[in-house]
Amino acid sequence: MKDTFNREINYLRVSVTDRCDLRCIYCMKEKMEFLPKSQILSVEEINRICSVFINLGIKKIRITGGEPLVRKGVPILLNYLGKKINNSNLEELTLTTNGTQLYKYAEMIKKNGIKRINVSLDSLDSKKYMKITRGGNLEQVLDGINIAKKIGLKIKINTVALKNINEDEFEDMVLWCKKMSFDLTFIEIMPMGMENETRIEQYYPLTKVRLQLEKKWQLEYIKYNSGGPARYSIIKGTKQKIGFITPLTNNFCDTCNRVRLTCTGRIYSCLGQNKYIDLRQALKKDKNNKALKKLILESILIKPEGHNFEITNYNKYTPNLKRTMNVTGG
Ligand code: SAM
Ligand code: SF4
Repeated sequence: MKDTFNREINYLRVSVTDRCDLRCIYCMKEKMEFLPKSQILSVEEINRICSVFINLGIKKIRITGGEPLVRKGVPILLNYLGKKINNSNLEELTLTTNGTQLYKYAEMIKKNGIKRINVSLDSLDSKKYMKITRGGNLEQVLDGINIAKKIGLKIKINTVALKNINEDEFEDMVLWCKKMSFDLTFIEIMPMGMENETRIEQYYPLTKVRLQLEKKWQLEYIKYNSGGPARYSIIKGTKQKIGFITPLTNNFCDTCNRVRLTCTGRIYSCLGQNKYIDLRQALKKDKNNKALKKLILESILIKPEGHNFEITNYNKYTPNLKRTMNVTGG
């Protein structure tokens, strides 16, 4: 599928739930109202939509959320989708998780054909981790990560750079990832949702993270592409890859290859825009997937050239986007 800017769209991110067992300070409000269960697609419906996407040329699917591993039906969904790897256009199935349930589900993930996962981890300090996630237990996450590593899942760590919160930990995070043989990606905070909080106070540009790291290591840009928006460097003389996702300091929309499906059946062809196509009605009425196919193709054609995130204009009472990240899936 090609969009009107000649970008090949072959990557689908699926948010299977808006719910989560954590409340990260940059992602959710402390008191969240989640969607009524009646609005959430069944795993069969998600599988059906994914199949149509795959037939239309999607090669890679990432399961995300909310926290995907808190949804009970996820093992069934991974089983459905895992069977399509290399039996259809689908070449890769991956998952992004906060890691809290990995100790239980790492085996199940691997069994269903997933080879690599992203784990979000913003601090290696238990108290700070608890503060950032509003209650998360770092030890539980590290246990899960160790189990996943032991059984051979390839792990990439995602770390959101947070001003005055984890800015003293970037080096430690690199050293830990080096020791564990994990790739690491730093992410710039995106102004989504949360009317009451000043995102500008949390924003820490990755240009500064890079400068910080360059005091200790020589970073060399490399061509490596993991299929996502990160631009990678390597620490000279080592195998340690460090990715930088910089929606604000260096917009990456020109190479965007993805669309997103929410757990309620909406397709957002851009994370940073409000336009969407709703598949729900077609899903109920359409027996042969014709209408679904038409709507999916339409969603590709309305994919905008780029997002509108801009932290400098960020006003604490009017965030760029009302949606929080857990709805569309990060
Ligand atoms: N719960 C899972 C997790 O945390 O990995 C998957 C969903 S989470 C929304 C996906 C990613 O989005 C995480 O790496 C998280 O750090 C990131 N994220 C959430 N809100 C964000 C924001 N406002 N700006 C940048 N990244 C954000
Ligand atoms: Fe939950 Fe992930 Fe959002 Fe944190 S970033 S609140 S773990 S969905």
